[in-house]
Amino acid sequence: MRAGKPSASAKVKPYDVPPLGPMPPYHGPPLGAHVSTAGGVAQAPARADLIGATAMQIFTKTPNQWKEPIIDEVAAGAFRAALATSGVQFTNSHDSYLINLASPDPAIRGRSIESFECELTRCHTLGLDALCSHPGNFIDDRASGIARNADAITQGLERRPGRTRLLMELTAGQGTVIGSTFEEMAALLRLIPAALQPRLGVCLDTAHIFSAGYDLIDAYDGVWTAFDDLIGLDRLGLMHLNDSKVPFGSKKDRHELIGVGTIGTTPFARIMNDPRLAHVPKVLETPKGDDMATNDRRMLSLLRGFTN
Ligand SMILES: [Zn+2]
Ligand SMILES: [Zn+2]
Repeated sequence: MRAGKPSASAKVKPYDVPPLGPMPPYHGPPLGAHVSTAGGVAQAPARADLIGATAMQIFTKTPNQWKEPIIDEVAAGAFRAALATSGVQFTNSHDSYLINLASPDPAIRGRSIESFECELTRCHTLGLDALCSHPGNFIDDRASGIARNADAITQGLERRPGRTRLLMELTAGQGTVIGSTFEEMAALLRLIPAALQPRLGVCLDTAHIFSAGYDLIDAYDGVWTAFDDLIGLDRLGLMHLNDSKVPFGSKKDRHELIGVGTIGTTPFARIMNDPRLAHVPKVLETPKGDDMATNDRRMLSLLRGFTN
């Protein structure tokens, strides 16, 4: 998954699957999936095309390692060229899973800030629209953790200017993680200076908020009203469309294929037709199975079929 040297000469087959067959028509905002960057970031847009994705999430590095690869201009140029000839209209990176910007341990927090800044730089080099990043774990004291998290975000955004919008992702609420309620996410965002607010937004994962106790099945409209009141729908920059393997309110983060998990089909059909969410790019992070394309194609076809 590492984004490294582009294999400019080598023709890497995007996915070992036949060309995309007909899919239901779709005229909504960018809709896609997390896509592999194996073989170099420039390989990703063709993979997005093969599953019919118009939104594409990638990792710019191996997300469970501290190693910070540098994306040079050659690799970035190859990526932008591939993107320009693809159907992808929206691009975002997902930040490393190791980062904890809220940690009370200065060494861990320092390393996290450095990693976060490297990620911002890679996003800017590639010209990505957004970076999705998780709030950290407070470990000791919630209010102190939120303050530390906000300070680290501020430092990163101030030191690494660019066009990539930072989207803080709502969490499922396991352990001492910050940002599993709309109130707490709003409180975190409020601590970031006004000058940086235009670069700041929120990513909402359906599986996370369902686990956090937002009932997309029986209180669908209430969830969005609460989101708009507390955070603001204009701040919603991306949605992760995932069903869940775990029960409502379980505070766990386990993604499932759309329609076969505890959320089920109906909330996703409503989301795909909801005018309040018509401005929001949407990407799948559902299990890919063996071949990285078939399930994503099936899921995107299903979602497209929900639209009127
Ligand atoms: Zn995430
Ligand atoms: Zn998740």
